[in-house]
Amino acid sequence: MKVAVLSRNPRLYSTRRLVEAGEQRGHEMQVIDTLRAYMNIASHKPQIHYRGQPLEGFDAVIPRIGASVTFYGCAVLRQFEMMGVFPLNESVAITRSRDKLRSLQLLSRKGIGLPVTGFANSPDDIPDLIQMVNGAPLIIKLLEGTQGIGVVMCETQQAAESVIEAFMGLKHNIMAQEYIKEAGGADIRCFVIGDKVIAAIKRQAKPGEFRSNLHRGGSASLIKITPEERMTAIRAAKIMGLNVAGVDILRSLHGPLVMEVNSSPGLEGIETTTGKDVAGLVIQYLEKNGSPNRTRTRGQG
Ligand code: ADP
Repeated sequence: MKVAVLSRNPRLYSTRRLVEAGEQRGHEMQVIDTLRAYMNIASHKPQIHYRGQPLEGFDAVIPRIGASVTFYGCAVLRQFEMMGVFPLNESVAITRSRDKLRSLQLLSRKGIGLPVTGFANSPDDIPDLIQMVNGAPLIIKLLEGTQGIGVVMCETQQAAESVIEAFMGLKHNIMAQEYIKEAGGADIRCFVIGDKVIAAIKRQAKPGEFRSNLHRGGSASLIKITPEERMTAIRAAKIMGLNVAGVDILRSLHGPLVMEVNSSPGLEGIETTTGKDVAGLVIQYLEKNGSPNRTRTRGQG
């Protein structure tokens, strides 16, 4: 197969590992800098140009699209889809998963367990919003945040009111969410490929911190997940329409709660902690499914 890896930086761990795993399995791998791909979107024959040349002959494309380049990255990916190139994850599914609120609404509709979450626009509605998520302590999340930045814990009703008011004043969209205390500053990252969780790790926040993000100093360890957690992760990825996803789960007193479904899950934490060849499994998924013209939506919808 000839496989494009859409990534801003060929030196990133995940990008490197995908290229290495693909080459090991005999495929031709090419890293394409997402922001340097350009296209004539009105042409009858969809094409993408890169450094003055048309990109041709690709069987599959692996999107590694960072949150800050979602808009442009999804446009490039859509163009690949229109050319009949098989995407590891489709552009519509990535766009869906990048909207935190929309994602939670889709998951909720299908009965996936979620922390109680509220969304409001007017400062007049703050007290009721706080009641809606069972009062303080609670978590406020900026819709645009990633890697734990913009996730704030408010211990008291008063603190919550001021923080929400401040964000609303700045015209930032926020969600208010019940704090899952019993998770103990830990969450579970389930790495889903197709209809399997192929690896899972527990991430534990450093002392004095509730956010378990590895970027915030959290530490990763091996964990055995329950059948219910496994099923929840697989269903969450499927609802989002993602073939490959990192599903983040909190262990609560009333079962697994999904926090987020990530469409470009990092490989470093999961590979180094579990010792599994996750990149190799991603490539194997493409080998099984990645024939031309098998993209479901071709960028529609
Ligand atoms: P980001 O997408 O920026 O990583 P998350 O929503 O995943 O933001 O939150 C960051 C971290 O904060 C999570 O990994 C988890 O450890 C902690 N966290 C988030 N929401 C809750 C919650 N409702 N209850 C308890 N801990 C939470």
